[in-house]
This record gives sequence, C-alpha cells and structure tokens, in this order.
Amino acid sequence: MENSMNTHFSPSEAHMDGPLFRNALQNLNECAKIIKCDPNVLERLRRPRRSITVSIPVRMDDYSVKVFTGYRVQYNATLGPFKGGIRYHQSVDLPEVVGLAALMTFKNSVLGLPLGGAKGGVAVDPGTLSRTENQNLTRRFTTEISHFIGPTKDIPAPDVGTNPQTMAWMMDTYSQEHGGYAQPAVVTGKPVDIGGSAGRNHATGLGAIYVAEKAFEKKGRTMKDAKIVVQGFGNVGSFAALFAFERGAKILAVSDVSGGIFNGDGLHIPKLMEYVQQTKSIKGFPGTTVISNEALLELECDALIPCALENQIDTHNAERIKAKIIVEGANGPVTNSATKILTERGIFIAPDVIANGGGVIVSYFEWVQDVMSFFWDEDEVNGRLKTIITKAFENVYKFQQEKQIDMRLAAMSCSVQRLERAMLLRGLYPR
Ligand code: NAD
Repeated sequence: MENSMNTHFSPSEAHMDGPLFRNALQNLNECAKIIKCDPNVLERLRRPRRSITVSIPVRMDDYSVKVFTGYRVQYNATLGPFKGGIRYHQSVDLPEVVGLAALMTFKNSVLGLPLGGAKGGVAVDPGTLSRTENQNLTRRFTTEISHFIGPTKDIPAPDVGTNPQTMAWMMDTYSQEHGGYAQPAVVTGKPVDIGGSAGRNHATGLGAIYVAEKAFEKKGRTMKDAKIVVQGFGNVGSFAALFAFERGAKILAVSDVSGGIFNGDGLHIPKLMEYVQQTKSIKGFPGTTVISNEALLELECDALIPCALENQIDTHNAERIKAKIIVEGANGPVTNSATKILTERGIFIAPDVIANGGGVIVSYFEWVQDVMSFFWDEDEVNGRLKTIITKAFENVYKFQQEKQIDMRLAAMSCSVQRLERAMLLRGLYPR
C-alpha cells in the first residue's frame, strides 16, 4: 500500500506535517517491514482518530479578552481510553500535538497499559499569565473539550507548562459540568488531597533508573560505582540523579538551562536538590567546576541520562559520545540518524517510550485508584511501577536480540504488534 509506506502528507493532511510526527511515521514504516504488519492496520495507525481545535476566550486581569488556540488530539483508542498530557507552550501547534499523541499511543502500547494515546495543548507562554489568567484559561479550555474527555473516554495529565494545580482546576471544571460531584478519574497528576497518587511526582525519574539498572544488568554489571551524567535537573533529571545516587552511582555532572556543573568524585545529589530549591538553579553549587551542556554530553561515563529537551544528540555529535549506555529520560533526545550511529558504535540506547514511561505508568495507577476509591501507599506504587517497566524492557530487549535491530525500532515493533493483535481481535481490520 503505497501511501502507508512513506511519510508524505497530502494537502488534506497538512495539519499533521511536523518533524515529530514525520519521525514517528518513519519508525512506524521501518518496523512495519520487520513485523510484516497488516497494511490495513498500518494505514489506520498513521492517522489520528480525532483532532480537535478550539478557541479559548480568556478574561485577562486588565479586563480585556484574549482568544487562545487549544488542541486535543485523540490518536488511537484500540487498547483503552485515550490518555496523554496537556502542554502549555508558545510553540504548540496541531502537527506537534499530533506527533505527541502518536508517541503516547506507541508508548502506552509497548508498556502493556490498557490505554490509548492522546495529547493536548494550548499555544500560550504560561510565564506571561497571572495565576487568575491561567485558571481562567484552564477552565475555559476544559469546558471546550469537556464533551470529548471523561474517566472512561479520555484522561488528560500534566506535561510541559502544566502541573498538579492545572489538573485540579480541570478536574473541578469537569466535575461541575457533569453532575456537580467530584470526578477525580477524569485527569491524573492531581495533588494527593484530591485523588492524586503517592509516588507520582518522582515516577518518571524512578522509572528511568529501573530501566538503567536493567541496561547495566545486560552489560554484566550493576549501578554501584557507575559513573553517570545527567542532562536537565528538573522533575525527571533531579529524581533520576537522586535514585542513581542512592544506588551508589557517582553522578559526575548535571546541567540545567543555565549550564552544567562537574565534580570527578561525584556530586552529592540530596544537597544539590536542596540548593536548587533555594536558588532555583544548579549554578554555583560549591565544589564544582563549570561545564558546557555540549561538553557534558560528551563526557566519558558509563551512562548518560538526557532529561531536558529533544534532539540533543544528532549526527553532529553522535560520533563524540563516550557513554556506554544512554537512557532517554526526555522525549526524543536522540534523533533517528544518531541512534543508528550510536548503535553501530556499540552504545546501548534505552528508548524514551520505555525509559520515561514511569510517569504514565503511575498516572495509570492514579486512574485505577480513583476509579476504585482505594489508595495505595508509596511502596506499593513503586513496586508495581518496577514490575511493569522492567517487563516492558525485557520484552523489547528479547525482540531486539532476536532481530538484531536497535532498541528504538524494537520498542516500536513490540508496540505495533500489540496494537495489531488488538485491532485484529476486535475485528476492526479482518485479513
Ligand atoms: P522540567 O521543566 O521539570 O525540567 C527540564 C530541565 O531541563 C530543567 O532543569 C531545565 O533547566 C533543563 N533545560 C532546559 N533547557 C536546557 C538546555 N538547553 N540544556 C540543559 N538543560 C536544559 O521538565 P521535566 O518534567 O523534567 O521533563 C523533561 C523531559 O522529560 C521532557 O522532554 C518531557 O517531555 C519528558 N518527560 C517528562 C515526564 C514527567 O513526568 N515529568 C514524563 C515523560 C517524559
């Protein structure tokens, strides 16, 4: 089927044409050849089920009204309700949201979760909004999409530029509009007091470390005394560094938007986290030397954990990376072309769809707990997270070993195989 084997967009598909989605389709096409995917399934998987664009009028503090544009893309619901975050960022547009929604579909599938994939966003710089304006925007956006979301339909969560408070406002607005009683299961990533889950805040960083431990195991060693470098010291990076530190690893360097810090004997991560809480930056942490973000990525180390932005390792620096293992805490930090170079050089990559899956896994737990109205303690959450994420890693690793392909392609293949089985079982696409 010609159309399904390329990443060309027709004029009617222009709203999907972005780099993220093109990358996802390239991976999809490549894996389809490996698993001999049914062409009808493939044709379905290369398009979102539903793309919603809404106008959001917001009363600003100076009494003027500004109209923002918001999106919710529901990519695929074969495996369960749609699930994915809401992003507030000035660069949000429909192609980006389509790409992110596709990634959520493949991520939820490879992790074995009973969830489909979605994503949403508003084109706004949240830093320019007052708290009241942000609340007004969030409530009106929720109203605009409220017919399409719901505990059994589509369950949003936080992403870049949104947080537990945003989810609390969304949950309240939805609840007021649907009977007036609390419906916590409509969103995840909420504060614990209104139905959030223990362990959600650190889940992505902890999941990345469970995956890193598995990767070390495959290399015949443990994390103790391993030299680790972490790019980004926000939610994912700081907790990944902390959990690695607690396991006896030496964290040689970390960075944030202000630059990097290095100490060859290892950084004391709990003290660094306290320092960042006070100063809002890693800059000037005592006993460290300054290192650029570029040089940090190229440090000699056992594991590099990029937890900041996409496209950090591409063809221009892939040859200079000296880490033995890369664990993708961020979404898309290593490009497809760099993945090929690094894999040929024997560098093991744990891909984002598994390595940063801890967040959505614990979001899934939050949804389950809300539906049951029965809450688990943190040990139970962490234990169940470990079971699910290591099982997904082992499945993908086994497939990668059998086919001798890179882990990213193996992850996509396992994901699409599960979606294909489900579609065929549901009788949507009989052979
Ligand atoms: P965050 O905003 O909390 O942290 C981002 C960190 O990256 C900050 O320390 C920031 O200073 C740093 N940074 C920004 N620009 C940088 C640069 N040029 N060089 C080095 N550092 C830079 O975000 P987060 O929630 O930790 O998310 C990080 C990544 O992980 C994103 O790609 C996100 O999509 C992905 N992710 C997050 C979660 C989650 O649960 N938070 C789940 C899955 C994936």
